Amino acid sequence: MVTSDNCPFVADGVDGVFDAETAKTLMQAAAHFDAYQEEALRSAGDEASGTGGLPPVVYLSMGICGEAGELIDHIKKRIRDNQPIDVDDVVEELGDLLWYIAVLTRRLTGGSLSDVAYGNIVKLRERYPDGFSAERSINRLKREQHKAYK
Ligand SMILES: [Mg+2]
Repeated sequence: MVTSDNCPFVADGVDGVFDAETAKTLMQAAAHFDAYQEEALRSAGDEASGTGGLPPVVYLSMGICGEAGELIDHIKKRIRDNQPIDVDDVVEELGDLLWYIAVLTRRLTGGSLSDVAYGNIVKLRERYPDGFSAERSINRLKREQHKAYK
């Protein structure tokens, strides 16, 4: 769990990625992520049960794929039928996805959901310091492809 004592965002704004106020806000949000994760783990059972013999990490990864499939299936059918997206259904599937992500995070890494959220937001702040830019995205992809062919 991230606290003001161990949160790198509060200490120095991750080398200037965040200003101090944003860092503090993110640290406070981390507590919500971690509280959610603890609640999700309450309903996950132990590692040995409920996976049909599959290793829990495999089972949970498959769960993420299954829920992503449910989400895109809903969207596909709504588009096919020329109907508006049902926001309640989308929110339900996103919640199912979040549950699997929260539990997988703990089982695979032993870490917290806030660690995942922070890692992602730092990466994106560094990648797009002024917000999303198609040009930065294209150039980043080109650099990665260039590295892959070296
Ligand atoms: Mg679902």
